[in-house]
Amino acid sequence: MARLFNPDFFEHSDFNEESDYYVINTCLVTEKAERKCRDVIKKTHNRFPKGKIIVVGCYAQLKAQELSEMPGVSLVLGNAEKFDLVKFVEEAEKEPKNKAFSCDISEARFAHSYSVGDRTRSFLKIQDGCDYKCAYCTIPLARGNSRNPAITEIVDEAKIIALKGVKEIILTGVNIGDFGKSTGENFYRLLSELNEKVDIPRIRISSIEPNLVTREIIELVAKSDKIMPHFHIPLQAASDKVLKLMQRRYLRKVFEDVVKEIISEMPLASVGSDVIVGFPGETDEDFMEGLDFLKNQELAYLHVFSYSRRKNTKAFDFPNQVSANDMKARSNLLHELSAKKTIAFFEKNMGTEHTVLFENRKSGNELHGFTDNYIKVYAPFDEKLKNNIRTVVLTKIKDENCMWGGKIREC
Ligand code: SF4
Repeated sequence: MARLFNPDFFEHSDFNEESDYYVINTCLVTEKAERKCRDVIKKTHNRFPKGKIIVVGCYAQLKAQELSEMPGVSLVLGNAEKFDLVKFVEEAEKEPKNKAFSCDISEARFAHSYSVGDRTRSFLKIQDGCDYKCAYCTIPLARGNSRNPAITEIVDEAKIIALKGVKEIILTGVNIGDFGKSTGENFYRLLSELNEKVDIPRIRISSIEPNLVTREIIELVAKSDKIMPHFHIPLQAASDKVLKLMQRRYLRKVFEDVVKEIISEMPLASVGSDVIVGFPGETDEDFMEGLDFLKNQELAYLHVFSYSRRKNTKAFDFPNQVSANDMKARSNLLHELSAKKTIAFFEKNMGTEHTVLFENRKSGNELHGFTDNYIKVYAPFDEKLKNNIRTVVLTKIKDENCMWGGKIREC
């Protein structure tokens, strides 16, 4: 979005500085996310009362009117309109009364986008929207149906990013394993073409649904030097009963088989997952049975979320909503399990050699980066490491989130 503004007429300033416009991209996936967005809008208005606030994204798509009534908000743009941000800003200057714009999202086309920050990594959007109907999820309402551009367009975009000196591309989207629906292609073919045709050291898959991780994808990642051995596979519930209630498209055996296959092909691969606790109907027994299942999976980490009851979703009216106390207790148990799994994963990797892409920013007297298999690694600061890939031996666990690296050498 920042790149949409012509630098001859606009200057990009830090969000914490006095400015004419503040663009806030919003999320609506949980109640907490929604609250945070409103807080940011309020704080920005209080700090900079003369600045015009432009709110875009999923919250803007679904609740445009509500946001347009907040003090300081001068423009609200839904998920299709945000890509015409500059046009809307110019029109709003002439006609300030019109504030809220969000079209029927089912008509939205794919809009290309990628981030280029400090040249370490770039997030490349390859797909948008979702055709799944998970009972708790508002995303399809805010982002529309699954859609994507042709593989050739993504490959060309990735080549442009590589020419900018970026070292790692992270493939993102709402449901990226579903890539290809609108072009008669598929995610495996996209990965193969990126692997063959784009001259970049690293490609990472952001997140992929368990039922969409195919054998050929796993084999390709195992063979490739470019595609990182890191899979984030959102399980969401570890009980089959709850998976059915959630209307997910698989049972846990599918997840279990995929994880086993990944680890048998790439023993040091990192596999992480998302789990929601407290979905309506999840009893203590369901949760404990799921916890046992998770204990036996070779996972590097879990992202734990408490169920958030969202209007306009099927689960909103489901009986047997779970109390906040029960959710908290279940969340604590899963956080403990996640910490144990991460430490076990670090121990498994102790003494092994990996490539590490170091960040561009110093942290204290150190610099950190990420291994191919997504371990955060610290090393003593050295200017030459910044934004470069080196071979590093993992020597020690620093804390539950990261390790120390040593014996650093050029790849
Ligand atoms: S797969 Fe399910 S949880 Fe994910 S975006 Fe689609 S509907 Fe939402």
